[in-house]
Amino acid sequence: MQGSPGAGPPLRNLGILAHVDAGKTTLTEQLLYLSGSIAAAGSVDRGTSVSDRMEVERRRGISVRASTLSFAWQGVQVNLIDTPGHTDFSAEVERSLRVLDAAVLVDCAAEGIQAQTETVWQALRGLGLPALVFLNKIDRVGADVDRVFAALRRELSPAMVRLNRAIDQGQAEAVVEALSDEARAELIEILASEDDLLLQQYLENDRVEPTVVQAALQRAVRDGRLFPVLCGSAKTGAGVAALLDAVARLLPDAGGDPQQPVSGVIYRLDHDPRLGRVAGVRLYAGTLRNRDRVLNHTAGREELITQVKRLALNRYEDTGLLRAGEIGCLCGMPEVRIGDVLGDPDPVPGGYALSEPLLSVQVKPDRPQDLAALVEAVHLLSSEDPHLDCRWHPDERELHLRIMGTVQTEILAEVLRVRFGLQAAFGSPTVIYRETPARVGYGEESYTMPKPCWAILRFRLEPGERGSGICYVSTVDKSAIHPKYQNEIETNLPESLRQGIKGWEVTDLRLTLVDGSHHLLHSRPGDFKLAANMAILKGLVETGTVLLEPMLAFRIAAPLESLGRVTADVVQRRGACEPAEIAGDQFVLHGRFPLATSMDYAVRLSSLTRGRGTLTARFSGYRECPDELGAVRPRRGVSPLDRARYILWWRGALTDSLAG
Ligand code: GDP
Repeated sequence: MQGSPGAGPPLRNLGILAHVDAGKTTLTEQLLYLSGSIAAAGSVDRGTSVSDRMEVERRRGISVRASTLSFAWQGVQVNLIDTPGHTDFSAEVERSLRVLDAAVLVDCAAEGIQAQTETVWQALRGLGLPALVFLNKIDRVGADVDRVFAALRRELSPAMVRLNRAIDQGQAEAVVEALSDEARAELIEILASEDDLLLQQYLENDRVEPTVVQAALQRAVRDGRLFPVLCGSAKTGAGVAALLDAVARLLPDAGGDPQQPVSGVIYRLDHDPRLGRVAGVRLYAGTLRNRDRVLNHTAGREELITQVKRLALNRYEDTGLLRAGEIGCLCGMPEVRIGDVLGDPDPVPGGYALSEPLLSVQVKPDRPQDLAALVEAVHLLSSEDPHLDCRWHPDERELHLRIMGTVQTEILAEVLRVRFGLQAAFGSPTVIYRETPARVGYGEESYTMPKPCWAILRFRLEPGERGSGICYVSTVDKSAIHPKYQNEIETNLPESLRQGIKGWEVTDLRLTLVDGSHHLLHSRPGDFKLAANMAILKGLVETGTVLLEPMLAFRIAAPLESLGRVTADVVQRRGACEPAEIAGDQFVLHGRFPLATSMDYAVRLSSLTRGRGTLTARFSGYRECPDELGAVRPRRGVSPLDRARYILWWRGALTDSLAG
């Protein structure tokens, strides 16, 4: 925000995204070192890097929690949101992506496009974020920038353009140089095809001013029309200054007017032993100071922000002030949740569908007497992270969590140990299925006895299109069922549909309330919830349900000689693939397979390809699945189909011991 009073320096909220091991942590260290923020670049190999934090991260050499670091380069303030690379943390990656203005995608110049790269790329495109690509490790044996660049163009986007080249690749002395005259002419031609001003100069003079080239490139990058590719080595520092220059010159400014009313979104929560719940916020407009009161638009209550801080090099620094465009930390909001909007919702960019956890896992304390403490700790953790949906089943005395992947359980075990002093063990994860009606049917309920009560309802249930979720309408007049009861039915739907007749959440359903009545004297609040739970489940018995299983879209790249083995294996896992694309002695295969048959697939692929295959997989919707190939679960809790008992239970007349 140049020119406006109170605005800070130009700002870049930047994410570094990469496949595990591509060199993100090492690059982060170099950026901090070059910008003068740290005296010496640490090393991930020695476990001294500043951007990694938890013990488990150091031990496994992976970044789990995204940490925020800031530095300045050529008068530009860069906020680095260091996003985690492992698939299991894609929810956190996506969450971090929402607050970015641009991204640097790190790929390895020796290995080529890696598993996670494509997933991350698609997420970036989904958000329309400007991006740069850094081809790292030019010093490594086997580095081949030309080859990897060609693959990027072919597989990720034809709009990639190179901005520099590597000399002496594959050697420790590898350096980065400006493009050859030929390559530069090519770049100008590409720019001219998109930029009228540049085209005009080009046609008139046959040469173009460097400033005009720079300006055209900047516009194309900021609009997300072109994606510059730079190369270098995070380890030796080669090409890192050029990368910083590109970040400062080409990427967009965070913008936002500090004079406008406050508008921000909470994108992460952390727990600090001293400060309690610390909320990461991205401010889109306005200014926040210590002790400011602000409306939590999502929760509909006023919040008192006790302190405004910044997370720098993993320490909270007092700033007392946060301006539009900035990312910071807020203390003093014990109830705040991820995704909450503070102040004016208008400047906050539209939501982005976060991925759903697809696995469920049971957690048990090592010592039975710790169960209550464990339930409490897990509830607290899931209030911080809405993706960690925890379910306590009192009847079975079982605690279940929904997770993104298996590595997450290891992190959770560590968090439970360090933060809560609890030793806990996780069972093996199971797939989360869903169910959908098999055909059209009706479900009804007349809850009129024992008085006082009155709720009569009739629903029509229809299968919806795959991926359509729940579509609910009411054709019943408000004189027949009062709006407050109609509202009760609608807001209770997630509960009514939480367990179908096969034990799974019901989805892809078109539900219509077609008939019913309330009673002026007898109807009580809650009656329609109870009746709807019963009517809908009866309807599902009539329609029957089809099991749905989560599917993954995959991309497999491996040496050609393993193509036959890999394809046969995919088919055996009930998967399907498109014809393979072959380039040289490598193939790339795209297709889909069920999550249930592919949880261990990275390991399997490694053995099929002698460790030379790479896999990318991302959730790609649900597909019908025969019961015998999936899983049907017994009902948890009292079933609404067990009518008399259910009514007793609902009215609190069934004691706990009877309820099981
Ligand atoms: P991250 O998982 O993406 O954070 O990757 P790290 O920064 O932890 O790096 C993974 C490994 O690659 C470490 O052993 C690094 O020393 C090594 N590495 C990172 N950058 C380079 C580089 O530019 N050249 C070489 N030769 N090795 C590198």
